[in-house]
Amino acid sequence: MSTTQINTDAPWLGVIADDFTGASDVAGTLAGAGMRVVQTFGIPDSLMQLDNVDCIVVSLKTRSVPAAEAVKESLVAARALRSRGVQQLYFKYCSTFDSTPEGNIGPVADALRNEFVPAGQITVVAPGTPALQRTVYNGVLFAGTDLLQESSMRNHPLTPMTDSSVPRLLQAQTRNVVGHIGYSVLEAGTSAVQSRLRSLSDKGVHYAVIDTLTDRHLAVLGAAALEHPLVTGGSGLVGGLAVALGLRDKPTSLHTARPAGPAAIIAGSCSEMTNAQIDTFRQFRPCFLVDPVAVAEGRDVVGEALLFARENLADGPILIHSTTTPQEVSRAQEELGQARAAQITEDSLSAIAEGLVALGVRQLIVAGGETSGAVVRRLGITTARVGKEVSPGVPWLTTKTGPGLSILLKSGNLGTPTLFLDAWEHNR
Ligand code: ADP
Repeated sequence: MSTTQINTDAPWLGVIADDFTGASDVAGTLAGAGMRVVQTFGIPDSLMQLDNVDCIVVSLKTRSVPAAEAVKESLVAARALRSRGVQQLYFKYCSTFDSTPEGNIGPVADALRNEFVPAGQITVVAPGTPALQRTVYNGVLFAGTDLLQESSMRNHPLTPMTDSSVPRLLQAQTRNVVGHIGYSVLEAGTSAVQSRLRSLSDKGVHYAVIDTLTDRHLAVLGAAALEHPLVTGGSGLVGGLAVALGLRDKPTSLHTARPAGPAAIIAGSCSEMTNAQIDTFRQFRPCFLVDPVAVAEGRDVVGEALLFARENLADGPILIHSTTTPQEVSRAQEELGQARAAQITEDSLSAIAEGLVALGVRQLIVAGGETSGAVVRRLGITTARVGKEVSPGVPWLTTKTGPGLSILLKSGNLGTPTLFLDAWEHNR
């Protein structure tokens, strides 16, 4: 166990997450470990007023924006977190290392290193999150039993992943030197990892991609990296850091009243899991499809969706989705271009979300990282308390700003096929 002490007046961890559902994932992991967690959307002015908090998770929407923009926003978030007194910074990206060829993982990590890491110190890179079946073996990322490049991530609408080597992916995004630490070093324990980090650093390596096959590897790595000013990884490693710090027996949720009431789901993720979740939900409750091509042709799809909602909300949860098969996504992208298809879809779904709240919806599930970013911004939500997880990486949040809502932001690949049916029972 580490001798690191938590300063109870200052939050321990400040997380900068590159998308909203990834932020929720990490926030849920921390809340599940007994931490008091606040998730912010963008960088709220009120960061200084947050109290009774161990971890602040800042959700950005920087995964697929131009690299310079991602760097700028991430630095503003990091500076705000440091001003609030956080002791350690964590740059959270997806456990499938979702990024464009230009970045943005490399450029953001480089900028954070420049400002917050003393020269000569190495930074760990650990996307692996075994709880979500994301493992790294010999630097190669697996989604379940598939190589990343052979998993459904190869068809992602914005960040298709066609290489599985984390060192190669990162090296293409940075001029800094990328090295690797294999799982046998993790097996040997924390001192072995620390000494390998030192020897890589002495050889001029700036980033160490770490093999992580089990939660035990994450706990070992967490202990090795506990004193690092900057850590980077998926949601798994924050669990490892929390374990290394020693779990504290605190109530996981401070909110007394969770908004309940009419319930709806908005899905813009086209992942296999979201498709499966919709197929399951569809057997019991009505669904409405938003087609970006129809919107571009001038159909009032938002109005139609809200009419559908008005007719069905009183009977139970409803689902409005643009989620569709990879073939249909390709068709829309060929017709409209990738960026325009995404923009039209996100604009439509967030306008529908606003309409749903006006119709009285108080429990809202949003599926998709980019989609969640668009919806949360449109609703004017800037801060939420993080509650219990419905399944790993998927917590309910209670908004503190904007409309009083229970909101659940689900990353495309997370959850089980019945999530849209049973998540409501956890919001009690
Ligand atoms: P995930 O969490 O699965 O990555 P995201 O919401 O982050 O989901 O990404 C999905 C992207 O695909 C969004 O930008 C969304 O607007 C876009 N999209 C959703 N439905 C369609 C569709 N039918 N046609 C084209 N693009 C779509």
